[in-house]
Amino acid sequence: MPHRAFVIGAILCLCGLRAQAQSTAPQPPPGPQPGLAWTQDQLNKVAHHVRAGRTLTPKSWPDGARVAVCLSFDPDNLTIPLNAGINAPLTMSEGEYGALTGIPRILRFLERQNLPATFYVPAVSALLHPQMMQAINKSGRHEVAMHGWIHEDPQALNDPEEEWRLISQAMNTLEKVDGKRPTGNRNPSWTMSGHTMGLLQKAGLLYDSSLQAMDEPHDVLIDGRSTGLVELPVNWILDDAPFLPPYASLPSPRLVMKTFKDDFDRAYRDGTLFMLTMHPHITGQRSRMKHLEELVVYMKSKPGVWFATADEIARFVKQQAGATP
Ligand SMILES: [Zn+2]
Repeated sequence: MPHRAFVIGAILCLCGLRAQAQSTAPQPPPGPQPGLAWTQDQLNKVAHHVRAGRTLTPKSWPDGARVAVCLSFDPDNLTIPLNAGINAPLTMSEGEYGALTGIPRILRFLERQNLPATFYVPAVSALLHPQMMQAINKSGRHEVAMHGWIHEDPQALNDPEEEWRLISQAMNTLEKVDGKRPTGNRNPSWTMSGHTMGLLQKAGLLYDSSLQAMDEPHDVLIDGRSTGLVELPVNWILDDAPFLPPYASLPSPRLVMKTFKDDFDRAYRDGTLFMLTMHPHITGQRSRMKHLEELVVYMKSKPGVWFATADEIARFVKQQAGATP
């Protein structure tokens, strides 16, 4: 069957061309692969250094609520470019939008809806815009928690002494600016070194909100031992940054809020936690706040939704877990 033979030949030829194109395409340089040589014991030790312990979702939330909702905002503002040594006016202005426009708009929205929120503030953001901190502090219902010194990357630092210095400096700065010592932490970009969790434990914090092993509150273990820290997990799919411009390309905030709504519906059904991560320079834009407000109005229309700060949620689950025999 010549026609069939021609077709098969053409397919083989195309596949060959494709394979050739792939083989000549630029490839990233091979990186180190130490995992290739690790024994099962070594794999266990490395994989389980910091890991999720038991779940801490209580049998019921305060006043019989079915779900806990935490609206969290990370005012990174100018810190990421500053940490990279960048001070280009356009880049600075993009970050400044968070402090000057996003935060006031978010605070007005929280006021309208009579809701609390948690703000994970890099200490340098607090120092550069003290009026932002005064505005957050004004209602007395919002929480200020840690988000690094200048949005540093502890994994790249890989220096426990320097990391401890930055954690201590950030805690002291926030205490001075906010009037309260922070009880919680969210690492910048959720990135941690192998030392971070131990240092957060040493700092005496109540909770962390940087890990993704579960979608309900849980204990955190270091080398199999409980740290006593409550983890309030985050997730990339419950964060505005991976979806919305200028750092991503999903054109409509409506689609993002629909994803958030679907996730909330399941959290509501399961009786667990809905932790939303947003950024004042991203969600604080006009068109996006409209959709966030619609989402919140939807959540408020359901019976038994407990809106709380991360500190309140961590405190409650820890107390309930302590009361469980
Ligand atoms: Zn951040």
